[in-house]
Amino acid sequence: MTDLINQIRNDFPALHQQVNGKPLVYLDNGATTHKPNAVLDAISEFYSCNNSNVHRGAHTLSDRATQQFEDARKTVQTFLNAAKAEEIVWTRGTTEAINIVAATWGRQNLQSGDQILVTTMEHHANIVPWQMLCEQTGAELIPVPVSAAGELDMDAFAEHLNDRVKLVAVVHVSNALGTINPVADITAQAHAVGARVLIDGAQSVAHWDIDVQALDVDFFAFSGHKLFGPTGIGVLYGKEELLNAMPPHQGGGEMIEHVSFAKTTYNGLPYKFEAGTPNIAGAIGLATAIDYLNGLDRIALAAHEDALLARAVELADQLGGIRPIGTARHKASVFSFLLDGAHPADVGTLLDQQGIAVRTGHHCAMPIMDQYAIPGTVRASFTFYNTLDEVDTLFRGLEKAKMFLL
Ligand code: PLP
Repeated sequence: MTDLINQIRNDFPALHQQVNGKPLVYLDNGATTHKPNAVLDAISEFYSCNNSNVHRGAHTLSDRATQQFEDARKTVQTFLNAAKAEEIVWTRGTTEAINIVAATWGRQNLQSGDQILVTTMEHHANIVPWQMLCEQTGAELIPVPVSAAGELDMDAFAEHLNDRVKLVAVVHVSNALGTINPVADITAQAHAVGARVLIDGAQSVAHWDIDVQALDVDFFAFSGHKLFGPTGIGVLYGKEELLNAMPPHQGGGEMIEHVSFAKTTYNGLPYKFEAGTPNIAGAIGLATAIDYLNGLDRIALAAHEDALLARAVELADQLGGIRPIGTARHKASVFSFLLDGAHPADVGTLLDQQGIAVRTGHHCAMPIMDQYAIPGTVRASFTFYNTLDEVDTLFRGLEKAKMFLL
């Protein structure tokens, strides 16, 4: 495995640099991932050779750009196992994808007395759009509780389900805790009361392949930059019948079929939701990231990520004074913790001085931090290009931080 990981690391130029005079140990993959050469090259090649606007051109470059852009959509379709490419809508990221559903499907389908279920472990991107929707419609947002270990209380979830619940919006993998939620089970139970299901897949796509048809989710959102692709590009998957029934959220070019002052008609899927010139290079970069991942043994790499997390847990026990936040039985390679007596921001700064990049703070998940009565955590989020040696370096760094701060 070590040879394979070292080989993979060679594909990621950003990993090979010194930060504050030390080799970079990048453990902030939950915030964003680094990009392999293949992605950097694809973006550069697009702008160097094929740069053109899509769909409207009557020339070769535009044809090439359109072909690459639509091929990228098909790559995402296959990656998610969506039934049709039309079900893949390009967005700026997870946040925009969720906001589109709230602003279109939500406003069309929710009214006073209806309920939306989320969990207390959601990222703000899967809370605030629903709060805004509730303000507009009079619907009620209900957070399903999470246990002290960071697991969703499935009994409470079942108790909250009733025919007033119109939507269940749940994070697949918590960015703050690492908890993996049982989304197939959640979806089946939600559908049984007639509710629709949106899954925030921002953190799950980087760890394993997704099958939206097998999960039977109605909407699935993710961001390219957390999947080794560029920033500014993301995906909203929606079942065709739902997307077809939804109104567009932005007006302009591309999303129309015919415009006149008497009556404007809208384009079909997915263009109805893609007003204006899209992020063409972003889509191509994201598809290239997916192609890159398809060339790797993702199951073996997921096992490697589990080993990184297990090593962190073991070393935390040995070091002492570490309080892990989020100890769900089923969790992704996210180690969120507090160093007793130290503020997370101070720990983060001392680690950064040693070239170790972690994230500190509330991780855009204030309600779950409130539940633990803490202002935030230190979060090391691992991905497949991290090594066991890097986990060791993290804990050597924490030992130093401990000596300095306590
Ligand atoms: N949901 C989760 C679970 C996340 O971790 C994030 C980003 O950290 C988001 C949503 C928002 O993603 P983006 O900022 O790429 O839209």
